[in-house]
Amino acid sequence: MKKKRGHYCKVCGEYKANEKFSGRGHAAHICKACASLPPEKKAEMMTINRLLNLPWRLSKDQLAWLRNRTKDRRPEVRAFAQHQYELRFPPREQFMDEDVWEDELDFLDGEWDEPDESDEIE
Ligand SMILES: [Zn+2]
Repeated sequence: MKKKRGHYCKVCGEYKANEKFSGRGHAAHICKACASLPPEKKAEMMTINRLLNLPWRLSKDQLAWLRNRTKDRRPEVRAFAQHQYELRFPPREQFMDEDVWEDELDFLDGEWDEPDESDEIE
């Protein structure tokens, strides 16, 4: 196994060489490049980073946090959060399981019969 080298920056989420961190940045886990960003941008990047690093199985707290982020006022954070949320909770009401999927394939093999809904009206 290769050892991870360098130091983790919690803002950009990258491992960088030690010299990319200032003395204070080291302890704070923020590299020099990120340290010079405006606080709002830093917070946004840290939030996105956290979204990308969420475990598959969320704790109650993490789920609550993710839910809140899907309503974040920052569009980028919102987009990432919604994506993460939908990965775990698909928006379709019925999650396709294998059997349903096979049925669907059979259906595609057969003749395409366009449902004519006009007959059903009334
Ligand atoms: Zn950084």
